[in-house]
Amino acid sequence: MSARRVSKIVVVGGGSAGFMSALLLTKALTNMQVVIVRSPRIPVIGVGESTTVSVPTFLHEMLRLDRKQFFAEVQPSWKLGIRYEWGEPGESHFNYTFDPCVDVQLRADARINAYHCLKDMRDASVFSALMDRAKAPCIITPEGQPKVAAAVGYHIENKAYVAYLERQARIAGVEIIDEDVVDLAKDEAGYVTSLKLGDGRELAGDLFIDCTGFASWLLQQQMGAKFVSYAESLFVDTAVVGSWPRTDEVIYPYTTATTMNHGWAWRIDFADHITRGYVHSSAFCTAEEAMRELQEKNPRIGEMRTIKFRTGRYDQFWINNVVAVGNSGGFVEPLEATALHMVVEHLRLVRQMLAESYGYLQPELIPLQNERCRILWDDIRDFLAIHYKFNRRLDTPFWRHCRTETNLAGAAPLVELYEAVGPTTVCDHLIPRNTVFGLNGYLSLMVGQRAPTRWNEEPTPQEWQAYEAYRHRVRQEVAHAVDVRQALAVVTHPAWRWG
Ligand SMILES: Cc1cc2nc3c(=O)[nH]c(=O)nc-3n(C[C@H](O)[C@H](O)[C@H](O)COP(=O)(O)OP(=O)(O)OC[C@H]3O[C@@H](n4cnc5c(N)ncnc54)[C@H](O)[C@@H]3O)c2cc1C
Repeated sequence: MSARRVSKIVVVGGGSAGFMSALLLTKALTNMQVVIVRSPRIPVIGVGESTTVSVPTFLHEMLRLDRKQFFAEVQPSWKLGIRYEWGEPGESHFNYTFDPCVDVQLRADARINAYHCLKDMRDASVFSALMDRAKAPCIITPEGQPKVAAAVGYHIENKAYVAYLERQARIAGVEIIDEDVVDLAKDEAGYVTSLKLGDGRELAGDLFIDCTGFASWLLQQQMGAKFVSYAESLFVDTAVVGSWPRTDEVIYPYTTATTMNHGWAWRIDFADHITRGYVHSSAFCTAEEAMRELQEKNPRIGEMRTIKFRTGRYDQFWINNVVAVGNSGGFVEPLEATALHMVVEHLRLVRQMLAESYGYLQPELIPLQNERCRILWDDIRDFLAIHYKFNRRLDTPFWRHCRTETNLAGAAPLVELYEAVGPTTVCDHLIPRNTVFGLNGYLSLMVGQRAPTRWNEEPTPQEWQAYEAYRHRVRQEVAHAVDVRQALAVVTHPAWRWG
């Protein structure tokens, strides 16, 4: 197998995955010609509104897209984490935040805060305290200057996001063709040489990025990748989605995940409207029943639409010179909003090979990149499985089924260890390296849901005193935070400069 030179990349699909791919490959690789071909008939998915921290990092640090212009054109709001209305029966909630929280170690010889959070998790980090006070990550310093955190997630409206990315792609010199791809040609080694378009044109290229969404037109339909289902661990397969215009002032700086009878519902806050999506299992209720439940609990919700999906990944995301990015390469339900995050991860793997090989495709590296990608996807499945196994909020047939039947898969050893010894940092050794949730994520979910553990030691008075002093500092810091509307006015003001 010899290395192949890549000088022209063809991206198929013009959703967020297609444009994120085109922009990265244009900007990160020198002398690369990038073309997007997208169907004028097949619309983009039109959902996907919540991100992890890696998406803003990708946009503003890897692609170097201006934050101020992004706020002006896409009108995102901030996401500091997820408020889980989840876990114990009753009305309680817990926060899984994007800043260090349960994994904070107050002194080198101290136990991490997760032990203290078993007793009381409130205000266990700055983001958590901001979330509970509905404040933005914008704190006014003693000098009266606003300080805005950059390591946060976004809430973004899918269509506005795609339109913005398209404008940026055109500025970066990406050619955009509006045509269906209907066929392709391969060489004797099974590498794609060209695509056939609906108008009869041939489009040649050296590397083909499949961003065709759930159709997976190149990876699955043409290259024969096999779907690996996560249905033994994750049972939901349908979402009903709606929104309503805002009349109140409080914009929550987080995604809310509320336990519902047959699944869960997200709430995402924008400046002018709120969206709700009820993700459920069609084995336990129809879409019409889900719409009724969502409507009863959110009387202002408008017209709803239904989206079906299947949960899993492909056995390979990269076959010869075809790479899948976005829903074409895998999809897990949006509880942890990981789809755009995985777009970034797939692109990291592609960029790494091409940039470090000076624009050559190295066949020997493809199996390694496929294995690294598999680990990232399976980690998401394992993490989500924990959410379903330990949620005792409702006693409905769906949730009883989740508690008894969820296959914890790769999370099983960690759950066993936690049960025996509590939230030890040793758990970290059971979490794959360089994945998105890490110790903070896993322990936030275990502690927040009050997952079973035989560990029942109370913190010592000294430990509790140190934890209280830490929480006092957190509360003092957030006392000077402003709300989301005020913070949006700060970052969109003509005089505002991002540091
Ligand atoms: C219910 C739900 C909630 C979600 N929530 C989130 C979330 O909160 N956060 C998050 O990160 N993600 C979320 N997602 C996922 C997110 O919507 C997608 O991962 C993301 O928008 C990327 O989509 P895409 O670009 O892969 O596909 P799409 O937007 O479906 O785009 C596919 C593109 O391929 C083109 N195409 C298809 N076939 C052909 C062909 N033969 N020839 C030419 N062009 C073709 C289409 O025209 C289109 O341009 C959610 C998804 C669902 C279903």
